[in-house]
This record gives sequence, C-alpha cells and structure tokens, in this order.
Amino acid sequence: MSPVEQELSPAVPALDELVLKVVHDNYPCVDSLKTAWGFSALVTGSEKTILFDTGSDGTLLLENMARLQIDPGRIDIVVLSHLHQDHTGGLTGLLQANSRVQVYLPASFPTRFKEAVRGYGATVVEIGGPQEICKDVYTTGTLGRRIKEQALAIRTQRGLVVLTGCAHPGIVQILKRIRRLHEEDILLVMGGFHLEWVTKWKVEAIIAAFRCHGVRYVAPTHCSSDKARQLFQQSYGPGCLDAGVGKRIALTDLQASLT
Ligand SMILES: [Zn+2]
Ligand SMILES: [Zn+2]
Repeated sequence: MSPVEQELSPAVPALDELVLKVVHDNYPCVDSLKTAWGFSALVTGSEKTILFDTGSDGTLLLENMARLQIDPGRIDIVVLSHLHQDHTGGLTGLLQANSRVQVYLPASFPTRFKEAVRGYGATVVEIGGPQEICKDVYTTGTLGRRIKEQALAIRTQRGLVVLTGCAHPGIVQILKRIRRLHEEDILLVMGGFHLEWVTKWKVEAIIAAFRCHGVRYVAPTHCSSDKARQLFQQSYGPGCLDAGVGKRIALTDLQASLT
C-alpha cells in the first residue's frame, strides 16, 4: 500500500474490539458459573486488559474465570471502585494468581490496604482526580463524601462505555461528571446502580436522567435491585441488557448512538 492509499483507507476505529465480561455478580446469567454478592467485570480489546472490581470472593472469581477460559495472568490493571468488601474481597485471590498488575484505587483507601497490595509485588496507583488509565480508558476520579468511589469511562467510536461498582455517590452524579469530562454520548452504562432502597418514582426520575444524558444501552446489575432492573427493562426494552455473571457484551453488538 502506498503512503497515499494508507492515508485514504479508513482508519480502524479505536477500541472496536472492546469486550466486557461479567466474572463475579450476584445475578446469574450463564448457568455454569457461580453467583455471590459483589461485582467484577473484565475489559478486553483496550490497550491494557483491565479487571474492574474483584467481587467478594477470590476463589469464586478465579473459578468463574477458569470456566470462561480467562487467564488471570493476562490482566494488566485492576481498578477498584471503592473499599467495600463485595468489590475488593477477590483481590487477594487474584494477586496470588497474578501479582504483576497495577492496582488503581481511591487514594482514601487505608494505608494497610495499600501496603498489603504492595506486599504481593503489585503496583498501587492512588486516584484522586480524573485521569487516563491507558489509551481511551479513563477513571472519573473519586466522587462522594463518605464513600469515595471511582467509575470507568471508555471512549469508543460508538460512544462512551461506563462501568460502575456500587454507584454510592449516585449513578446520575457519576454520569454528570463523565459528561463534563468527555464530550461524547454515552453508549452503555453497566454495573451496580445502587437502587435497592430507592422508590419507584425516584428510579423513574433516574431513568429520565439517563435519557437526558443520551444513554443508549443499560446493563443494571449487582446492587441495582430487581425492581429497578424491571423499570429499566420496561423503559429501554432491548436497550436494557440482561446482565449477570458470565454476561458478555461486545462493542460490535451495540448500535452507535444516533445523536
Ligand atoms: Zn458498596
Ligand atoms: Zn457493591
């Protein structure tokens, strides 16, 4: 190919190979996998392979990964959304299988936690404000006063893909920050939305806010609650993906936002 042809040929869209796989969740999706309270999802197809949260149970996490033929040795980066055990409990098991990882965690985590991570030989990256983690993958930085929590935003040609742990600071607050940081529309929001004790009326207001922010697909799971999952399903129809342990979402299966 001549340099001119190279210039004219369409560029391969960035992160078009992106795939999300839920590897630990309290909701079932694939029968052969075990459920337990917590959340963990693997991000592949980005510059680095990223495990977002680790669930509550390292043994179960590694068993599920083995059944999904995921080699924990392939993971480059672990992002911990917040300190709660149902997101950090699987870390020790993972570090025993692969300690050559960078662990991105809120700077507010206790010193003894960070020291324990370093004790395995892993690198700790302390997060305060928003920053790029690797090409096109960003942390929101920590939000919330009492419980500091970060979420992930991944920039793709089809829009932003957002991963949340428990969304304690408020799922809409997280979306607002992401929209302030990035100009693009939001293609997908997956993870815990923290809607367990929230009234139907409030969930409907949250769904309206999702619409306002142009969210095209949702995959509420973990602490999103049965009721909120149902309401999202009613509102989004096929745009509400039935998430749970084993769920695989490939970017190529999603239609880009039209706005
Ligand atoms: Zn939590
Ligand atoms: Zn949680």
